[in-house]
Amino acid sequence: MDYLALIFDLDDTLIDFSGGMNNCLNKLHVQFFSTHPIEEYKRAFKKINDAMWELVDNEKIRPQDVKTERFRKLAEHLSLDFDHELVADIYEEMLGQEAHWLPGVKETLIKLKEKHKIGVITNGFGDMQTKKRDLMGLKDICSCFVVSGHVGFAKPNKAIFDIALKELDVAPSRALMVGDRLGCDYQGALNAGLDFCWVNPNKEKLPVHFPEPKFVVSSVVELI
Ligand SMILES: [Mg+2]
Repeated sequence: MDYLALIFDLDDTLIDFSGGMNNCLNKLHVQFFSTHPIEEYKRAFKKINDAMWELVDNEKIRPQDVKTERFRKLAEHLSLDFDHELVADIYEEMLGQEAHWLPGVKETLIKLKEKHKIGVITNGFGDMQTKKRDLMGLKDICSCFVVSGHVGFAKPNKAIFDIALKELDVAPSRALMVGDRLGCDYQGALNAGLDFCWVNPNKEKLPVHFPEPKFVVSSVVELI
């Protein structure tokens, strides 16, 4: 299939988000959570955070609802009294600095750009995702960069895909969505009528309710 446009998810598709998140959690532990063993606190945060992002995938809450609420829940879970809005702001600021390309991916995108329009659709906070884009030098590579926090729709809602397709001036049938999360990236591609490439580095099993995706890779590098 000759796709005119390739549309990528950002976190854990192009950038090492999990590694960046881990660095930030380590720093926050020293500042605010040192009364609790680091692994216990990180496990608790990840569990709360994952559950909240799953609610976003199911369109029960919006991405911006995650920002502070996950720290309020964490405080409650660890029976700690801290200013969760302050911690949420500090965490977001730190995370915006953690924009590290996954190995070989930047070079791959530059190569793919020779033949395809490159777009990004990401669920997240407008300022943070834009900061990451600029730190990564992604601005020069992609023709469109759509953040849920800016447009008011989040993946898997078809509306955010329509915005990107319009910016890229491409029909859904001529675009490939590439992402790591089935609930938002794949479900969104299905909703909007795009083929999907699943970035699945950990060889997770496809849940039975999803049809087989068009492609499965362990890294974007394989798209070449
Ligand atoms: Mg992702």
